[in-house]
Amino acid sequence: MKAAPFAYVRPSSLSDAVAELAGTSGGGKVIAGGQSLAPVLAMRLARPDTLVDINSVQELDEFALSGDHLHIGATIRQRRVERDPLSRKVPLLRLALPWVGHRELRSRGTVCGSLAHADPAAELPAVACCLDADLTLTGPQGSRQVLAGEFFGGAMTTALGPDEILTSVRLPVAAAGEGFGFAEIARRHGDFALAGLAARVRLRGDRTEATLTAFGVSDRAVTRDVSAELRAALSDMGDATADRLKGTLAAVVDEMVDTEGDAHASQDYRRRLLLTLAGRELSKAYERARKGNGEVAT
Ligand SMILES: Cc1cc2nc3c(=O)[nH]c(=O)nc-3n(C[C@H](O)[C@H](O)[C@H](O)COP(=O)(O)OP(=O)(O)OC[C@H]3O[C@@H](n4cnc5c(N)ncnc54)[C@H](O)[C@@H]3O)c2cc1C
Repeated sequence: MKAAPFAYVRPSSLSDAVAELAGTSGGGKVIAGGQSLAPVLAMRLARPDTLVDINSVQELDEFALSGDHLHIGATIRQRRVERDPLSRKVPLLRLALPWVGHRELRSRGTVCGSLAHADPAAELPAVACCLDADLTLTGPQGSRQVLAGEFFGGAMTTALGPDEILTSVRLPVAAAGEGFGFAEIARRHGDFALAGLAARVRLRGDRTEATLTAFGVSDRAVTRDVSAELRAALSDMGDATADRLKGTLAAVVDEMVDTEGDAHASQDYRRRLLLTLAGRELSKAYERARKGNGEVAT
C-alpha cells in the first residue's frame, strides 16, 4: 500500500514551522526522522493532509549541556546522542539507546520523535519518565514546559496539541551517588520489548532512594518509587542481590503490569519477565550508585 496524498512543507525557522502546522487546522503532522511515521502513512493508519518537515529548522538542532541538564533538540538523531561523549553525563540514556530498534533506524530516528510517538513499548519514553525529564512544547501561543510523567497520556497519546511541536527535551545529568540499570526482553534484538525496565538509585547521606520505570507492560511507561523495597532488601544483610530484591519487589511489579495477554506473551509471563529484570537492574543500579560517580562504562 502507498501513503494517501499529502502536501509537504519544509520550513527553515521554528516560527514558520509553528505557523505551517497551525495553518493545517489539525490536519497536519510533524515529520522528524520518519522511522515511525513513514510506515504509519504507508499503511494508511494516518492520513494527514500536510507533513511539516522540521529537519531544516536550525533552532531545533541543539545538543548541549545546559547547567545540570542535557538539552536535546527535536532534530537530534538517536545515533548522534549514542555516540557523543556528552551523553555519558546521562548514563541511563546511554544504557537505553542501543536497545532502540537497529542502528540504521537510530541514524534517522530522533529522540524527540520517539517521545512524541509515545509507543508504550519504546525505550526513550521510559528513560524520560525515570529521570523526570522536562519537555518543551511550542505552538502559536508560545512555549510551555511539561514533565515526562504528565506528557504521556496513553498508547500513542501525549500532551501535544495538534498545533504544537515538541521542540526539545532536557534530561538531568547524573549526580555523585546515582546509579542506573536498563534492560529489556524481546524475541529478537531490535524488536519492541515484551517487558523492559529502567532503574535509578540515589544515595544521599544516609538516604537511599530508588525508582523503577517499566515499559511494554501497560499503555504507557509506569514509574514507581521503590525506595522502601530496596531498603527492605538491604536491611537483612546490607547487600541488595537480585534474588533478595525479587522478593521485596514482587507485589509492586505485579501491579505495574496491566497489559492483557496478547499473541506475544501472557500477562503472567510479562510479570515474571519484569520481576527478573527489576531484581537484576535495581541490584546493578545500587552497586553503581555505591561506586559513587554516576558513570556507567559503555
Ligand atoms: C522496524 C522498526 C523497529 C523499531 N524498533 C523500535 C524499538 O525497538 N524501540 C523504539 O523506541 N522505536 C522503534 N522504532 C521506531 C523508531 O525508533 C523511531 O525512530 C521513533 O519511534 C520515532 O522517531 P522519528 O524521529 O523517526 O519520528 P517520526 O517517524 O518522524 O514521527 C513519529 C511521530 O511523532 C510525531 N513527531 C515527531 N517529531 C515530533 C516533534 N518534534 N513534535 C511533534 N510531533 C513529532 C510525528 O508527527 C509522528 O506522529 C522502530 C521502527 C521500525 C521501522
